[in-house]
Amino acid sequence: LEERRKYVKGKKLGEGTYAIVNLGHARADPTQLVAIKKIKKQKEYTEGLAPDAVRELKHLQELAHPNIISLLSVFSTKDQNVCLVLEYLPLGDLEMLIRDQDGIRYGTADIKAWMGMLTRAIWFCHENYVLHRDIKPNNLLIAADGEVKLADFGLARSFADPWSVMTSNVITRWYRPPELLYGAKHYGGAVDVWSVGTVMAEMIVRIPYLPGNTEIDQLQLIYDRIGTPTEENWPGVTTLPGYIPPERIMPVQPKANFLQTFGTVGDEGVDLLFKTLTLDPRKRITAREMLQHPWWRAEPHPTRKQDLPRKS
Ligand code: ADP
Repeated sequence: LEERRKYVKGKKLGEGTYAIVNLGHARADPTQLVAIKKIKKQKEYTEGLAPDAVRELKHLQELAHPNIISLLSVFSTKDQNVCLVLEYLPLGDLEMLIRDQDGIRYGTADIKAWMGMLTRAIWFCHENYVLHRDIKPNNLLIAADGEVKLADFGLARSFADPWSVMTSNVITRWYRPPELLYGAKHYGGAVDVWSVGTVMAEMIVRIPYLPGNTEIDQLQLIYDRIGTPTEENWPGVTTLPGYIPPERIMPVQPKANFLQTFGTVGDEGVDLLFKTLTLDPRKRITAREMLQHPWWRAEPHPTRKQDLPRKS
């Protein structure tokens, strides 16, 4: 059976910057609910691109992990749109939980559980040579059993890149690492680790940690809150294509300053956060090293997934 005929489209669930999402179900099994995500066409989108994008996304179907949203199918429609069929996750995303300060209370054990799931997700992807490049609370969806699932994997790479208009709108600036802000062409898993660090900071203080209004403003926030990249703390930084010499140099903040802002997660938690927000991507902790960190075994233990706070 043709891939796109395997699913039946239902009511509209929502609309994002670059996709329209509908509920759906498998034609062969109406109880198997899915989310059908149709990627909106872009200005510079020309015929022939959809099949290429589909081919590029096909390999993500094999990326099976409890903390990564299942991609059940990818196909292009008659009118050259790309459709993704994803597992249906009706409980919203972490951004909703973080923002709902009056309704939802959570503590260190909950943050540790969510962070553990997120770290395992990026570790698995990096082991499989896949980068996410757009990790943010809104891309962390919540399953009925409390499991957090990283969504939009590979979309950043497959879709955002060819169209520059998209890159600036879609890949959220607040979670971008300094090497991408400086236009690095060669980068690795460290880009995702930085984003995970900014998400951890946001989970703790419940407001975005580095909410830059422009790319320049984003860099300035990094300078002020983390430190200014220099040849000393990051050899080679000044040779990156988008490097801008700073007006003045802010010293790299010591861990003690992070303790003041993020101390509720304990010394080990602050140590992990500090290591994810290291300026030089080569010195930044890796996903694999994150999993070895003593924070996970320190008190309090991570909340069991079925006991995690959720929207009612
Ligand atoms: P955004 O990430 O900007 O919210 P998306 O295109 O990813 O945009 O999704 C739009 C909306 O569709 C989301 O806000 C959410 O309500 C819904 N949605 C997306 N993916 C799923 C899914 N797998 N299961 C259930 N609902 C989803």
